[in-house]
Amino acid sequence: MLLSDPLDPVLRTTAPLPRGAVVRVPDPLLVREPSADAYDVVILGAGCSALSLCLALVENGATGPILLIDARTEYADDRTWSYWDVEDTRFSHLARAAWGSWRVRTASDDVHSSAPDTPYLSLAANDFYRYALGRLAEHPNVELLLGEPVAGYRTIPSGYEATTARFTVRSSRVADARGLRPSPAEIAAIRSRSTWIPQAFVGQHIVTRDPVFDPGEAVLMDFDVDQSRGLRFGYLLPVSPCEALVENVYLSDAPVTLEEHRSELRAYLRDRHGLDEGDYEVLAEERGVIPMTDHAFRARSDSGVAVVGTLGGATRPSTGYTFLRIQRASDATARWLLGQSRDALPEPRCSLLDRVFLRFLADRPDAAPKVFALMFGRLPPDALVRFLSDRSRPSDIARLILALPKRVFLVEAGRTVLGLGLGISLVRRALSRAGSRSRAGSR
Ligand SMILES: Cc1cc2nc3c(=O)[nH]c(=O)nc-3n(C[C@H](O)[C@H](O)[C@H](O)COP(=O)(O)OP(=O)(O)OC[C@H]3O[C@@H](n4cnc5c(N)ncnc54)[C@H](O)[C@@H]3O)c2cc1C
Repeated sequence: MLLSDPLDPVLRTTAPLPRGAVVRVPDPLLVREPSADAYDVVILGAGCSALSLCLALVENGATGPILLIDARTEYADDRTWSYWDVEDTRFSHLARAAWGSWRVRTASDDVHSSAPDTPYLSLAANDFYRYALGRLAEHPNVELLLGEPVAGYRTIPSGYEATTARFTVRSSRVADARGLRPSPAEIAAIRSRSTWIPQAFVGQHIVTRDPVFDPGEAVLMDFDVDQSRGLRFGYLLPVSPCEALVENVYLSDAPVTLEEHRSELRAYLRDRHGLDEGDYEVLAEERGVIPMTDHAFRARSDSGVAVVGTLGGATRPSTGYTFLRIQRASDATARWLLGQSRDALPEPRCSLLDRVFLRFLADRPDAAPKVFALMFGRLPPDALVRFLSDRSRPSDIARLILALPKRVFLVEAGRTVLGLGLGISLVRRALSRAGSRSRAGSR
């Protein structure tokens, strides 16, 4: 059941929202046109990173006028954010479910792993939006303008000027939080210099007639599915015995249509859980393409402009996880925008290990399921969680390297270092040819 009427009375309450329900924007926050001549901060976009940053701004003492501008016309329940509970965030208390145990499955391995002190959390987008918008509505200096695509912004003597089709707004500072939507030409340009793997997925939040899921364990990667079109896995977050988010994920360029994703999801639910179409209802659907790339994003595009979220390189290159990095950056960015901090904005980080892992995924998708099983099987769960949450200690990295097949990773490390040092695509191509020959020889 998709509740598409944002004014539905059920949504006026503070009762938990059904999955799929659209969030009603509180009246005091919403404006039809900008009310101020000039703002302290204009935030372009009003999605995850923008709302997180805006909350950080007001909580760090911003009292001057702030305007958020977004092209969207409503806050649909358009995603589910999951991450490990390794530190406090402003939003983790909203988690609908948490798993202290998880599983990675391949055609030949079935690895179970537990870290009850740092569970894997899952937040519904509509809970996040309702909470963030509700909190921002308590601050009369914050305004939200929806249905207004931003065309761009430019420097003017007093600061910046952002334009939409209907308005021009001035501000001292700008935060660009418009998400990453590169054109095919931009992607081609990035790919000529960097590794780029699209993490393309469709997820469905379903309720079943009969209890079929084990809510004690999340299935993070189930590679025991058809791999003929590219590296692919199933992902299942069971909220209760009768309710789960199930996703079909490709780490590949395979041109998979929405219908094909849906059909693979149906087949997955049938094969794994014996569910036929009439046995469950889809409450909400989400989809996305998260770029996994070592492209060098910038956290700042001008002396008064912070670039945040996926556009600012918040996505972890080797995993696609972004939410926690957005939360980590929000306070520092807010203090920078408010002139409270002289520190430079933290630039997005891409470690050598991230680069090597990314190259490995791009070059050896055939070997990836085995390597993930080794990682989850051999690394102590706490060390694994720290690695996946970008909080590795040097000893975790050492353990990880020891757990992985040395020859494969040495080849990828060599490629990465050479690619970085020389930046010559010819070298990469030559190495790739040499690698294919040595792979062919080793089979
Ligand atoms: C379906 C889905 C599931 C995800 N799940 C996870 C997860 O489990 N864990 C995790 O860590 N990460 C996850 N991510 C990745 C990441 O956390 C999210 O994409 C997150 O929303 C990124 O935040 P953002 O602010 O960069 O972009 P968004 O939240 O997408 O916000 C960008 C905003 O900019 C607006 N906008 C775009 N262009 C313009 C314009 N020209 N003018 C005005 N407004 C504009 C958009 O309407 C949007 O509201 C997921 C992503 C998707 C798509």
